[in-house]
Amino acid sequence: MNISSVGVIGAGQMGNGIAHVFALAGFDILLHDISEQALQKAVTIIEGNLERQVSREKITAAERDAALGRIRLEKELPALGQTDLVIEAATEREDLKHQIFKGLVPHLADHTILTSNTSSISITRLASGTDRPERFMGFHFMNPVPLMQLVELIRGIATNDETYQTLKAVVDKLGKTHASAEDFPAFIVNRILMPMINEAIYTLYEGVGSVESIDTSLKLGANHPMGPLALADFIGLDTCLAIMSVLHDGLADTKYRPCPLLVKYVEAGWLGRKTDRGFYDYRGETPVPTR
Ligand code: NAD
Repeated sequence: MNISSVGVIGAGQMGNGIAHVFALAGFDILLHDISEQALQKAVTIIEGNLERQVSREKITAAERDAALGRIRLEKELPALGQTDLVIEAATEREDLKHQIFKGLVPHLADHTILTSNTSSISITRLASGTDRPERFMGFHFMNPVPLMQLVELIRGIATNDETYQTLKAVVDKLGKTHASAEDFPAFIVNRILMPMINEAIYTLYEGVGSVESIDTSLKLGANHPMGPLALADFIGLDTCLAIMSVLHDGLADTKYRPCPLLVKYVEAGWLGRKTDRGFYDYRGETPVPTR
């Protein structure tokens, strides 16, 4: 199946990155969010990121302009129903995602493929709430989308082969690499990554190390490009907590218990970079540990 138009739901850090890479690859984008402010912020971020690519000579000014010209902001969700492919990238909450698909289904063209960029939630369950579980898949991009090479492809129990092959071809067109994962909580990347981040937070909670010593240890001792607490702030602490909760509930194993300190940060609204405060405070020139 040929995909030329793409609807992106949620214009947060993932949605704006997805719109950016798809527009650069020649797809026409409708970018939707319930928040007008989020839509405006997304445009500013996309413009800034494309500009950086021009200044680093990764793309030309003409390619930047063409990409920006392919992104249309859309305040009405039903308008996305006529696109070839919908990528849902709203907040990591299952009830919210079900509600979005419920609102969209009556307006869908017959051929439209539905996907979710969820980090952890069951694709089979999300698909079962729609009219097309056979044309529904997990389409998991990594953050920041313009830089990260991997896309996880997750088939629900009913997903048909045409849908899987279509999305594989889309990943090729984006110049990215896919990895296929089965539909179990948090798939591959976050099944492995998030318990490590949660353990880093327990290490902080139990006083084994400070924010700085934990991040320095993993950077210099395990050769990770970023420390786990800086990475948690980058992902968003609300998203980290949501993923740990899906692992804990879905696999019923206490080893996935979200660290109480992570819960406290989320309760405080300290969600990491997106709110300017998490394990680090980003309001000054350089990030300062908050513990
Ligand atoms: P974010 O908080 O930056 O953005 C979420 C956006 O969704 C916000 O702009 C919000 O206004 C919007 N939204 C909320 N309810 C909506 C609705 N009903 N309709 C339309 N828009 C709505 O979050 P994010 O980091 O971009 O994460 C989005 C999704 O991507 C989540 O499912 C998350 O698990 C997944 N994801 C995140 C990362 C990461 O590193 N942050 C990586 C891969 C996948």
